[in-house]
Amino acid sequence: MSPRQEAPGGVFETPADRASAPQVSFEFFPPKSAAMKQRLWETIERLEPLGPRFISVTCGAGGSASGAEPTYETVCRIGSETSLNTTAHLTIAGATRDDIDAIASRYWRAGIRRVVALRGDLPEGIGCYQPHPQGYAYAADLVEGLKKIGDFEVNVAAYPEVHPDAPSAGFDLDNLKRKLDAGATRAITQFFFGTDVFLRFLDRARAAGIEAPIVPGIMPVVKFATIAQFSAKCGTSVPDWLARLFDGLDDDPATHRLVAATVAAEQCLRLREAGVNEFHFYTMNRADLTLAVCHMLGIRPAVTSA
Ligand SMILES: Cc1cc2nc3c(=O)[nH]c(=O)nc-3n(C[C@H](O)[C@H](O)[C@H](O)COP(=O)(O)OP(=O)(O)OC[C@H]3O[C@@H](n4cnc5c(N)ncnc54)[C@H](O)[C@@H]3O)c2cc1C
Repeated sequence: MSPRQEAPGGVFETPADRASAPQVSFEFFPPKSAAMKQRLWETIERLEPLGPRFISVTCGAGGSASGAEPTYETVCRIGSETSLNTTAHLTIAGATRDDIDAIASRYWRAGIRRVVALRGDLPEGIGCYQPHPQGYAYAADLVEGLKKIGDFEVNVAAYPEVHPDAPSAGFDLDNLKRKLDAGATRAITQFFFGTDVFLRFLDRARAAGIEAPIVPGIMPVVKFATIAQFSAKCGTSVPDWLARLFDGLDDDPATHRLVAATVAAEQCLRLREAGVNEFHFYTMNRADLTLAVCHMLGIRPAVTSA
């Protein structure tokens, strides 16, 4: 009998769950309007008590042309107004090396010591990535450049289903190795559904000699149609069973939320059973699903004595 079947709590409790709650990190994006700002801060207020290992703020994600400034402002504000460890995403697409070095130096001077070093999404309509002639060409080059500016703790991206621009899975894995060899110490994955995709990738990475932590990126399905669109762009496959689960729920947000929380919790619990003890949540600046999944993972607000 497997530990899962023996556990009195069924899917919600395994020996690993009882031993200790996993570590988590939360990803936000910089708000673009006053209403979005308010939502972000409400989300932070609700998630901060869970004591994440860190939170991170994206930079120009989805190909937005907003640049690094909104990320800088959001990271610094969260850093100064909360107890959270902040992490800045830094992207190179469309920017010169001087501009990137300047923003990295500002982060260092502001006391931000952790970054996610990325190539960056391409703006809508740009089919094929071309490195900026005066820029860093790929994320591995950025990692190397960052290490010359300060001893940042550098996280990088990894792709369980292979990055769409990579000529092969082997090339993509070598690329991850290059990023780690250049000084990154941790990888966070693109989101995926199910568990086998991640576990197979982890096996391949370990077999290739990659020993750094590889943290699964978890995307609770805030809105199935939107997530399906994101998935198509970034090469994440959407299994039929997932589409069937959300079928008919477009106009029923309450049931959609319940199903989404169940799906993400089940994914994390199965990964947990396979020995994974850290998760990175793409929160989409919303607290409820991430909060529910963390709760089911045994993560509770820290109790402070009066
Ligand atoms: C955790 C996480 C956070 C993210 N945050 C953001 C964000 O804040 N903002 C944003 O815009 N996007 C973000 N993204 C998306 C990311 O920027 C895109 O997936 C982007 O297309 C690739 O970024 P990368 O850092 O993995 O690039 P790279 O590691 O540079 O790889 C990009 C592609 O180039 C290939 N490649 C690498 N080196 C070479 C070479 N020398 N010659 C030819 N090909 C090469 C790789 O195999 C891969 O296919 C995030 C992704 C993840 C997983």
